Amino acid sequence: MKELKEYIRSIPDFPEKGIIFRDVTSVLQDADALKLSIDELAKRLEGVDFDVIAGAESRGFIFGAPLAYVMHKPFVPIRKKGKLPCETVEKTYDLEYGTATIEMHKDAVKKGEKVVLLDDLIATGGTMKAAAELVEELGGEVVKMLFLIELSDLNGREVLKDYDVDSVVQFE
Ligand code: 5GP
Repeated sequence: MKELKEYIRSIPDFPEKGIIFRDVTSVLQDADALKLSIDELAKRLEGVDFDVIAGAESRGFIFGAPLAYVMHKPFVPIRKKGKLPCETVEKTYDLEYGTATIEMHKDAVKKGEKVVLLDDLIATGGTMKAAAELVEELGGEVVKMLFLIELSDLNGREVLKDYDVDSVVQFE
């Protein structure tokens, strides 16, 4: 069986010149690779004491919900602003150009709950840092940050140095 890294397609100059985009649709399109990705993520949660998985829109939903299913835990979506219908907390963070705002429902995480944060990929770490701040604002504790892919040269781990960060596949 192929290794997971071999299923990840690399697209040069997307979304702009000079960027190599790591495309996970090639993982999703292959039943073996999809299973492998969830199995590998699940392995990294073995022995971790947690209550809920929260995933970042939108690829964090794709991997987060099946992961929550196999771990038999609830799943919470962290959404881009304006999508969630009930009362929310929100956080705005810097992107390379401009800013982004993410939201969670106020009742998505209860005080004292242990939360695993999940996304498909860590680049600068900005998205996850904002997500962690939202969870903490709700009184939750981030016990782990889990990624399918880590772009290690971008030093996201430094931004997230206060957290337990883990990833399945690393690219320089
Ligand atoms: P960060 O906030 O760590 O700089 O960026 C991570 C976020 O951007 C994640 O939500 C991730 O989905 C998205 N992202 C940035 N670059 C890539 C990439 O090359 N491939 C994929 N699949 N997502 C990316």
